[in-house]
Amino acid sequence: MMKIPMSSPDLSEADRQAVIDVINTPILSLGPKVVEFEKAFCDYTGAKHAVAVNSGTAGLHLCVHAAQIGPGDLVITTPFSFVASTNALLFENAVPVFVDIDPKTGNIDAGLVAQAAQDLSAGGKAAEKWLPRQGRGAGKLKALLPVDVFGQPAAMDKINAVAQEYSLKVIEDSCEALGATYQGKKAGTFGDFGIFAFYPNKQMTTGEGGIVITDDAKSADFMRALRNQGRAPGDTWLSHTYLGYNYRLDEMSAALGSAQMSRLDEMLAKRETVAGWYAQRLSEIPQIEIPVVVPATTRMSWFVYVIRLPKELDRAALARRLEARGVPIRPYFLPIHLQPYMVERFGYREGDFPVTEDLGRRGVAVPFSGVMSEAQVDYVCEAIRQEIAG
Ligand SMILES: *Cc1c(COP(=O)(O)O)cnc(C)c1O
Repeated sequence: MMKIPMSSPDLSEADRQAVIDVINTPILSLGPKVVEFEKAFCDYTGAKHAVAVNSGTAGLHLCVHAAQIGPGDLVITTPFSFVASTNALLFENAVPVFVDIDPKTGNIDAGLVAQAAQDLSAGGKAAEKWLPRQGRGAGKLKALLPVDVFGQPAAMDKINAVAQEYSLKVIEDSCEALGATYQGKKAGTFGDFGIFAFYPNKQMTTGEGGIVITDDAKSADFMRALRNQGRAPGDTWLSHTYLGYNYRLDEMSAALGSAQMSRLDEMLAKRETVAGWYAQRLSEIPQIEIPVVVPATTRMSWFVYVIRLPKELDRAALARRLEARGVPIRPYFLPIHLQPYMVERFGYREGDFPVTEDLGRRGVAVPFSGVMSEAQVDYVCEAIRQEIAG
């Protein structure tokens, strides 16, 4: 029996050496490696500024600050995401206003974003139907927070058009989409802010880590201060202009990040090959729907490989049978609005976002990484085929 890991980082000897080189110096934080890593991101994305932080969630939180989103403010976002995209708003007591998703991609439905923005800007009765049952804010609509789900960019042209019409900030959560392109332009570069994340299951890793890109110098400076305990330029170690955080990325992580960045396109190509192996094999299993890449996605950056099972299939039982064969699978995503703390705070119920809930019930991530072998993919697919048939 093979034992297949859910995901694995793609690490080279040079990547490991880059970390060791830092540990052999006395500078483990606030040094040149972070600066180098940020420069690599500016070069790769074309953004004017990059601010490295110690997680994608920290990056999202700083963007919420920089966009001046505060208590009661409304932000249109998606319930089909990793919880961090919504949590970053809750940290500042803003109110996430969910709209449902496009069933093909799992990304926020841009048509619904447009309707919601119109109604929320109008206020009164029109706005009511978009707001949660309880915990509504009294603030006004401030921003849009789309997520590039599973490595496929959201419909950013339409989302940006809505933002323009209603003067909204756009925070693009590209934590799952480093290297993806939408109509030829890189994910993360569409909004006022783009965020990437580097947990070990992401396309590249720093262990823990994240980065914000933006063209806005003032926001970048503000975020640099906030990540470093609120120290503005000129502040001494114990003087703090702002209420800040410790969101600093350490030098070892940054060095690993730069080493990984230098191989990014090679790593993305390997992931694409693995996704191709899956598509070939899983498309022959009639009960399974494989991921759809839409034409606007001019480059998919494969983060996870999420398939959809038939409604009637018992997903938990399938997971147990596959686990026994050394093949882990994970439900992906569980809708954010149905997480216990969200139900308690906003009174959401099953049925509120039907497309999200449908994908939430039927979606599973299969083992995926750029270092998987074709034999491993064969083994996973054969196990799935047999267990679904049986
Ligand atoms: C991974 C991820 C993040 C950030 O995760 P961290 O673990 O905080 O680095 C944020 N949003 C989405 C959609 C993600 O997938």
